[in-house]
Amino acid sequence: MSPKRISVIGGGTGGTLLANKLVSLLKGEVARGEVEVHLFTESTEHVFSPGNIDIAFRGARPESFRRREGALLDRRVVLHENAVSRVDLANRALFHDSGVINYDYLVLATGSVARPDIIPGLKESSYNFHTGQEDAGRTWEALSRFVGGRIVVLTNIPHKCPPSPVEAAFLIEELIRKRGMRDRVEISYATPYTRAYPAPAIAEVVEPMMEERGIRLYTMFNTDYVDPKAKKVYSIEGEELEFDLLITVPPHRGADVVFRSEMGDSEGWIPTDKETMRHEGSDDVYVIGDATNIPISKSGVVAHLEAIVAAENVASDFLGTGKVYCYTGRINCPLELGDSRAVFVSATYEKPPARQRPSVAKYLMKRAFASVYWEMLKGRLDHVFDLYFGKPYRVKNVAN
Ligand SMILES: Cc1cc2nc3c(=O)[nH]c(=O)nc-3n(C[C@H](O)[C@H](O)[C@H](O)COP(=O)(O)OP(=O)(O)OC[C@H]3O[C@@H](n4cnc5c(N)ncnc54)[C@H](O)[C@@H]3O)c2cc1C
Repeated sequence: MSPKRISVIGGGTGGTLLANKLVSLLKGEVARGEVEVHLFTESTEHVFSPGNIDIAFRGARPESFRRREGALLDRRVVLHENAVSRVDLANRALFHDSGVINYDYLVLATGSVARPDIIPGLKESSYNFHTGQEDAGRTWEALSRFVGGRIVVLTNIPHKCPPSPVEAAFLIEELIRKRGMRDRVEISYATPYTRAYPAPAIAEVVEPMMEERGIRLYTMFNTDYVDPKAKKVYSIEGEELEFDLLITVPPHRGADVVFRSEMGDSEGWIPTDKETMRHEGSDDVYVIGDATNIPISKSGVVAHLEAIVAAENVASDFLGTGKVYCYTGRINCPLELGDSRAVFVSATYEKPPARQRPSVAKYLMKRAFASVYWEMLKGRLDHVFDLYFGKPYRVKNVAN
């Protein structure tokens, strides 16, 4: 009998961890040749995206934030360094660069894409640190050349890593101050939300700190277009902001393959059950991380925890245990506030983030994560996270 095939699309945070977890949960079945785990990814390199913050605002070298994908995967995972061009759910088939492959289970972990091109004038007028390491490097160069004037940090939604635009504003302020140019620079932060941060308890921490550091806050600012010649950004609400340097978090969309396969909504987010991570309408397809339409932050932490839940559910279904694993919606995103201080935005589906005091300890924990990330992808640190936070799921027994 030929082995069952579990295919994963996307070798980012969620897909890499999930593939490693699956071969471990199904180790006996993999060893006996009853099941194979295949991972398709379009890039040979795996980038630690939070490193873009260090590249853009601290001038860090990009090489330290990337590794070969093959080196991060358990050797029992079959790696295909191929982009999947289309998914045919009805026929359980994936079309990729060098052919077609069928699956018994499919996990979509295709992430999200920053799209400065979808707002008129934005791409040609701005710098950003969400479209990759090169653009993060260009942001650092632009900041290094800057001699004074108006800097606008412009947020567009939806986007991954909710803390990242606020972090950008604080880190730019710190950089400019430490370079001795603070009196020559006006820094503004514009956001579509009604507060500086979407979670009110975190906004209560961020807003007084913005005031104290002289960062002007513009809320309910939904970018309409940017005029590159006039160096002005206009909002749908009728406001305009002048800039000498525009740094943006562009709006995000789902991956191209989602649009080509007609699997998502108008922005390319895939309908997903927020507890089981099952694709809505399929028994054999799961979706994790930024790719889902779940109203939860698009972050590495969420991709990590959803990968654990989906891996448990695929393994449980395959083995017929009758157990269903349900994600609690736990998030825990660090938010840097400059001057070596951070808070953690922690919540579950039932409990919103609470107000907290910025601390050096949380900042150090955030910085330390860059070095444990690569081990975390191998699934080796889950017991440590479980000890600290508890399991990210509840288990339902649905047998009989
Ligand atoms: C500047 C910045 C800072 C951040 N900081 C944090 C942080 O501090 N904490 C945090 O939790 N999160 C942070 N994030 C967010 C985090 O990086 C993402 O949310 C996380 O990577 C999402 O994981 P994912 O697996 O869903 O998608 P990704 O990690 O983006 O992986 C998707 C993968 O799918 C591949 N792919 C897409 N389409 C195809 C296809 N057709 N065929 C084959 N492969 C395909 C892509 O190439 C990619 O490798 C940050 C992001 C940025 C940009």
